[in-house]
Amino acid sequence: MTDKQKQLLLAFLGYDTGGIDGIWGPMSRRATEAFQKDYMETADGLFGPATEQRIREVISGGEPVKKQDFWGDIRFFCREEFRCTCGGRGCTGFPAEPAERLVRNAEAVRRHFGVPALVSSGVRCQLRNAELPGSAANSLHLRGKAMDFRVEGIDADTLCTYVKTLPDVDEAYAIDGSFVHMGVLKYEGGA
Ligand SMILES: [Zn+2]
Ligand SMILES: [Zn+2]
Repeated sequence: MTDKQKQLLLAFLGYDTGGIDGIWGPMSRRATEAFQKDYMETADGLFGPATEQRIREVISGGEPVKKQDFWGDIRFFCREEFRCTCGGRGCTGFPAEPAERLVRNAEAVRRHFGVPALVSSGVRCQLRNAELPGSAANSLHLRGKAMDFRVEGIDADTLCTYVKTLPDVDEAYAIDGSFVHMGVLKYEGGA
């Protein structure tokens, strides 16, 4: 991998390398270090084989990391509610963006029942996903395509039944008496 390719990958994930010019200066080293702090165990600022492998994983494992503009239409949820709950230990919060369809479905649920909804788990990084009991290794949460949530005063079965009527939902099940997992596996547009 050339220095220019390394800069390109760092920049793609939002780390400022001071340009993609193939000149490996202090900003490229700082960007590497910032990436390592976010995604690796140690941060030395050196872009070696381990860093190269990790950045490939991060990029191929998630959706393109870019802010989606559909949030302007969303009234009852904000992007922050979908943030990974690892507390910065495994990611910077959004290893993938919440899929537009998922968020629009959540909005539909909120409108249908007319009472507040609470997201308990939105996007997850590998670390967070692995430590949650019962989560699948290839969980849709890793790709921003699933959320766990409840609606105030509505039992999980009622919520689940409604969730199943929404577009692109191919995973809908009760986690307990009140929380439901909603996933949009086949949805490819928007995020
Ligand atoms: Zn995380
Ligand atoms: Zn879930």
